[in-house]
Amino acid sequence: MIGIFNQKNVAELSYYGLHALQHRGQESAGIVTSDGHRMHIHKGEGLVRNVFSQMEMDRLKGAHAIGHVNYASIAESEALNVQPFLFKSAGGELAICHNGNIVNSKEIQAFLEREGSIFQTNSNGELLAHLLKRTRGDMMSRLKEALNYMEGSFSFLVMEPDALYVAIDKDGMRPMSIGEFTNGGYVVAAETCAFDAVGAKYVRDVLPGEVLRIGAAGITTDNYAKLTRHLMCSMEYIYFARPDSDIEEINVYESRKRCGAVLAKESPAPTADIVIGVPDSGLSAAIGYAEAAGLPFETGMVKNRYIGRTFIEPTQELREQGVKMKLSVIAKVVQGRSVVLVDDSIVRGTTSRNLITMLKNAGAKEVHMRIAAPEIKHPCFYGVDYSSYEELISAKHTTEEIRERIGADSLGFISVSGLMKGVGRAEKFGKKCGHCTACFTGEYATHLYNDEVTT
Ligand code: AMP
Ligand code: SF4
Repeated sequence: MIGIFNQKNVAELSYYGLHALQHRGQESAGIVTSDGHRMHIHKGEGLVRNVFSQMEMDRLKGAHAIGHVNYASIAESEALNVQPFLFKSAGGELAICHNGNIVNSKEIQAFLEREGSIFQTNSNGELLAHLLKRTRGDMMSRLKEALNYMEGSFSFLVMEPDALYVAIDKDGMRPMSIGEFTNGGYVVAAETCAFDAVGAKYVRDVLPGEVLRIGAAGITTDNYAKLTRHLMCSMEYIYFARPDSDIEEINVYESRKRCGAVLAKESPAPTADIVIGVPDSGLSAAIGYAEAAGLPFETGMVKNRYIGRTFIEPTQELREQGVKMKLSVIAKVVQGRSVVLVDDSIVRGTTSRNLITMLKNAGAKEVHMRIAAPEIKHPCFYGVDYSSYEELISAKHTTEEIRERIGADSLGFISVSGLMKGVGRAEKFGKKCGHCTACFTGEYATHLYNDEVTT
């Protein structure tokens, strides 16, 4: 998600920014621009580079914009749900995009429907638009009232013809940062790597429970919630974010490397000769593991750059085939050696099982699997794509059973406290704060309303 205020080539800049954020969602992309009076929209299914042609970019006139790349989780991946949304009413035009998942959305929607609202999608953006319509005052006070109804994890970007608004949930589960252009314009983005792509400088992060307005007079800020916490999604550091991004001023690459070092202390592999990482998301932790264990770090696997993410494939069969097409082993590196294989996480176990088979087929003597995330034993109801116990291997099996199923000679996961130590947020936000760890511990930050919460 990206928002840009007051830049001449706003469509191009939004495109570059979304391109830098492409790893956060590959299903669809969209941009709405504003020329100060009217808004212009283009969106579609697919990667950023496939959705926008020069002709469409030329139509996106104005100096302000919001843009989005979508990762389908609980909201269905239908064309109707492609973001941003553009709403036209007697009050004028309004564009909205969002990330995350609002756990009481069904309750809010049912209430609004009883009051006469009709919904086109099951999106949180539309929910916000309906709530805003019911409230009075200027946009800042309307947003404050509307956001107060919502529980869960979210980040919102809202654009009026001459202003941008940005807010994140009061537990700070989703990242959102503010940057500045040298000529006075502003940018907000889900990850700081987008600032480099558009040529802006990081200013600060949006705070939990804060609403910001960016207009011609600069930035004004207010709070819609008083009781706030910093419970950033741990998977942002572990998997989602790009290594060159900083989340609340902690660099993602460095945090992964530190986690790798903690993992080496917690789960040594005394017989190992080399350490290799699963490209790309396991590489930083593998470097940290190798350094701390005093073992050589080797490139034992290469990734085909032209294939999408395996995790998102709709069937298990396609997923298994996808892993083989995506990664291959450098046999000469692993032949006759005892290998530590580091990956960022195990969800269903498909990736690890396939990779270990590939390494053994290539002649590896032993494979010691090390995972830089704790065991994922519980679903995520905050917008990450594992929302049932059914699909989580760690919810159904012990560590020893998983080791056997994936064919590893040994298996070790980082502990929850090890993860916290490695990332380093506790120093900033206090021991009890800093992370959402619900998918590891089952301790959810909010009340859960959904009936699909089963064990
Ligand atoms: P699995 O094969 O189901 O065990 O998935 C593990 C792989 O999926 C790891 O290599 C991760 O890099 C990746 N992964 C972890 N979390 C997610 C997520 N929420 N969305 C997409 N991929 C993920
Ligand atoms: Fe992130 Fe897990 Fe919390 Fe979901 S439950 S927000 S994936 S840490």
